[in-house]
Amino acid sequence: MKVDADYTQKPYEEWKAADWPKTYQNPTYKNIFAAGIAFAPPHAISKPMYSPNKTPIFPAPPRTGMPSAIIGRNCALNIASMIKHGNQTPKHTASMAEIGAACVASTGASLFSGTAASITVYPIVPDFEKYPEYGRDLYYTFGEIGLAGHWIKLLLHYAFIYKAKLKPFWFVLPE
Ligand SMILES: Cc1cc2nc3c(=O)[nH]c(=O)nc-3n(C[C@H](O)[C@H](O)[C@H](O)COP(=O)(O)OP(=O)(O)OC[C@H]3O[C@@H](n4cnc5c(N)ncnc54)[C@H](O)[C@@H]3O)c2cc1C
Repeated sequence: MKVDADYTQKPYEEWKAADWPKTYQNPTYKNIFAAGIAFAPPHAISKPMYSPNKTPIFPAPPRTGMPSAIIGRNCALNIASMIKHGNQTPKHTASMAEIGAACVASTGASLFSGTAASITVYPIVPDFEKYPEYGRDLYYTFGEIGLAGHWIKLLLHYAFIYKAKLKPFWFVLPE
């Protein structure tokens, strides 16, 4: 669904972090928001490329669990504010050009064997005005292979189920 992004068609060189949506509110129907994988991205994230036989390689923007949850929380806060206080202009924002994401992919189920890849990016959508060289802050953008990823995954497993059940202080658990 189209939201508050800049959907103007333009070449890769003109793509900006500011093209990405912030509130995920539909421009026509102000009471409709599209969080997570539901919103239409303005364009791809990485530079469009072609294979030697001209097959286009335009990876779709990844909208993984962490940003989906952060966006969802902000949409929920805006909707609650509309209902409770009549605020028609959403104040809570979560642009993928301003938030980071972490992803852990693990193989094996043991805590003592197997391996895992832990990856972080910040920001998710590169911002070449802020970080001219790579579009991202390399201090917060890294990949690490190791068993520690298993332990993180296990921790997240219990933390997210706890949160989903709305147990005491669920809201202090981050996305
Ligand atoms: C195999 C797999 C592995 C993944 N691994 C990772 C990972 O390791 N880390 C990570 O960060 N992300 C991962 N992701 C991505 C992540 O799961 C998604 O990005 C995230 O769940 C998207 O959240 P969402 O709330 O936008 O959509 P969803 O989680 O898809 O939620 C949409 C919900 O809407 C419901 N729905 C659909 N139609 C209707 C309807 N008409 N009425 C009512 N309800 C409806 C669906 O049943 C669903 O519950 C993975 C995805 C897949 C498929």
